[in-house]
Amino acid sequence: MNGKITFLGTGTSSGIPMLGCPCEVCTSSDPRDRRLRTSALVEYSGARIIIDAGPDFREQLLGTGITTADAILLTHAHMDHIGGLDEVRSFNYFLKKGFPIYCEKNVEEALRKVFYYAFDEPRYPGAPDFEMHRITASEKFSIGDAEIMPIRIMHGRLPILGYRLGALGYITDASFISEDSIRAFRGCSVLVISAVTLKPHPSHFRLEEALEAAGRIGPQRCYLTHISHRLGTYASLTRSLPEWVRPAYDGLEIEF
Ligand SMILES: [Zn+2]
Ligand SMILES: [Zn+2]
Ligand SMILES: [Zn+2]
Repeated sequence: MNGKITFLGTGTSSGIPMLGCPCEVCTSSDPRDRRLRTSALVEYSGARIIIDAGPDFREQLLGTGITTADAILLTHAHMDHIGGLDEVRSFNYFLKKGFPIYCEKNVEEALRKVFYYAFDEPRYPGAPDFEMHRITASEKFSIGDAEIMPIRIMHGRLPILGYRLGALGYITDASFISEDSIRAFRGCSVLVISAVTLKPHPSHFRLEEALEAAGRIGPQRCYLTHISHRLGTYASLTRSLPEWVRPAYDGLEIEF
């Protein structure tokens, strides 16, 4: 083993239950059917790395008991992936410094609009202090001893990032992955991939497409994330999947 992923959230942008929805999944009593917005904690080569920080970020961290981390990696700037970034104020308070955020240029530009008050000069005391690190697809970078490869994936027409951290591949909000990127994920033992619906969706893999992409990558084990209530309950979804693929659920920990 060289690392561990803890799923902090495995739900699509609305979360499950979706507000006001009376469906079988949203009213399920199985705790695995309760899904916060998609985020993960990866402990790898001595680093503690969070991927995405959506609107449930604070509650997710309270659930793990961790009080800080070494960095947040962002996949893209949709609200279900950045909406909780203001919470790094707590990290700032205890670390007494800016908190490292790694993202592409267009994501940083979005953060400068959404969290405009964090970028004001002179700094407003108490505003979140983001230490911005610009990254580029296919250019490896390191956090401490942990080497990370950002890999281009498409989310509808939006180019976003997946990540390769050693033997872990992490893909969320994908709707298309090029052959080059498939190759960059090959060799991972654990693959996380998003599957949102059963029917075609303009900016997300439906289940069949996620399984097809996972098959081309060929990991030993695959975990589905960014799941919506349209995929059915955890129990029924699990029954429909091949043995090497499981739905992730909030709190699940997997070694890789
Ligand atoms: Zn999303
Ligand atoms: Zn529902
Ligand atoms: Zn998105």
